[in-house]
Amino acid sequence: MKMSATSEYIPVSNDDGYFIDDRDSVYCKHGNYVGYPGGIDYICHACEEGLNKRKKGVRYNVYSQINDIENSKIKIFQEYSYKALKNRMKTLNQLIAEISPNPQIKITYEKEMYWYWSK
Ligand SMILES: [Zn+2]
Repeated sequence: MKMSATSEYIPVSNDDGYFIDDRDSVYCKHGNYVGYPGGIDYICHACEEGLNKRKKGVRYNVYSQINDIENSKIKIFQEYSYKALKNRMKTLNQLIAEISPNPQIKITYEKEMYWYWSK
């Protein structure tokens, strides 16, 4: 099983326990590497901060794309509230309109669910 050391990793252990992968590496519930069975000497930042509840959140990925070129789509930023997203997209679209009256770039966004750790 491949483990990734990001805060979004969804662990398979019980709520409080550490878990060990098939290479004998030990991970905390946040999915961060904390050592091996003979010597757990590393505490992840989220553990230290007491982030113990897993919550579901929404975020918005914003992309720019050259008109009509499908594989030109690139992610340019991310927002965690709809209001912030709308404000930033409005500003960006105004800026693009100022630069070019017939913009070759379009800005789109996608909503995404994600898990995060909280107190
Ligand atoms: Zn942790």
